[in-house]
Amino acid sequence: MNRWVAEAIAKINADAHRSADTHLFKLEVPGLEKVEIYLKDESTHPTGSLKHRLARSLFLYALCNGKIKQGTTIIEASSGSTAVSEAYFARMIGAPFVAVVPKSTARSKIKLIEFYGGRAHFVDSAPQMHDASVELAKELGGYFMDQFTYAERATDWRGNNNIAESIFMQMEREPHAVPSMLVMSAGTGGTSATLGRYIRYKGFDTKLTVVDPENSVFFDSYHSGDRSLTSPHSSCIEGIGRPKVEHSFQPEVIDRMIRVPDAASIATMLWLEKLIGRRAGASTGTNLWGALKIAREMMEAGQEGSIVTLLCDSGERYLDTYYDADWVAKNFEDLTPYNDVLSRWE
Ligand SMILES: *Cc1c(COP(=O)(O)O)cnc(C)c1O
Repeated sequence: MNRWVAEAIAKINADAHRSADTHLFKLEVPGLEKVEIYLKDESTHPTGSLKHRLARSLFLYALCNGKIKQGTTIIEASSGSTAVSEAYFARMIGAPFVAVVPKSTARSKIKLIEFYGGRAHFVDSAPQMHDASVELAKELGGYFMDQFTYAERATDWRGNNNIAESIFMQMEREPHAVPSMLVMSAGTGGTSATLGRYIRYKGFDTKLTVVDPENSVFFDSYHSGDRSLTSPHSSCIEGIGRPKVEHSFQPEVIDRMIRVPDAASIATMLWLEKLIGRRAGASTGTNLWGALKIAREMMEAGQEGSIVTLLCDSGERYLDTYYDADWVAKNFEDLTPYNDVLSRWE
C-alpha cells in the first residue's frame, strides 16, 4: 500500500486509541418510576459532537477504499458539525479541506471550520450544496465525502466500538441492562442505522424509535414508504430533519417514529439545562422529548425498563440562537404548552 495512505490510517487509528469513550449518564428525573433514562454524552469528543465518530468513519472508509491519496482535497457539503469534525481529521492527515456552505452561514461557524484548517466555498442556497460539491471535486481532482450517502455504510455496524456497542456495554451493570428502547433523531440517518442494525445483529430485545422535527420528510416517508418526498422548508433543529429522504436513512431498522414539534425540542433542551446544569443542542431536546413520552407510556402501562438516548452536541454553539429568548420568541411558537407537559415530571 501507498506509504502516505498507510500513515494517514495509522494516525487516525492512533488518535482513536488515545481517546476515551463518551460518558453514559443516568438522568435523575424526579417523576420517573421504575423507568430509567440514560443520555450518551457525545458532546465530549474533541470536536464537540457525535459527528466526530462519523468523520472518523468516513475518513477511514475513503482511505481504505483508495479514494484519498497524498494531496487529495477533501470536500464536504456541510456548514455544521460534520464540516468541523472532518476539518479536524483532514488536518491530522495533512489533506486540504473545503466545506461547501450556503452564503447565509453564520460567520462563527465558518470560523470554527477555519480554526481546524479548512476553508469555505459559498453557494447561494442549501439545495445547491450537493451538486456544487460534486462539481468542485471534479474541478480540483478532489474527493467528495458525501456524508448523506456514506454515513450508513462507513461505520461498522457489527461492533468495533461503534456507538451501539458502547451503549450496550456501558449499560451492563444497570438495573435494566438491556434497554427497552433506544431513541435517536436522524440527520444523515447514519447513527440510527447503526443502532438498529446492531440491535438485530445481537438479537437484543430492544426497539428503536426515531424522532423527527417539523419540515422533515423522514416521518412521512417512513409511514408511506415513498422515498421521493421533498419539503420546501429546511428543519429549524440543527443537525436533524431533512427536506429530502437521504440515502443513509434506513427505515427498515426503525420500529417507530415520533414527530416532535420544534417548540417542544427547544422547551426540552432548556428543561434539561435546569436538570443537569449543562447546555445541549436542540436535537438533544428532540431526543429527550421522545424518550420522556415513551417513559410516560411505559409507566402508564405498568412496565419497567430503561431508555437510552443521545446528547448530540453542546449548547455552547447555540448561545445566540436557541439560548437567546428573543430569538426563540421570533422563530418558534409559544413554548408554554410544552413547558406545562415537562413540568409534570418535576
Ligand atoms: C448529525 C446530527 C444528528 C443526527 O445524527 P445522524 O447520524 O446524522 O443521523 C443529531 N444531532 C446533531 C447535533 C447532529 O449534528
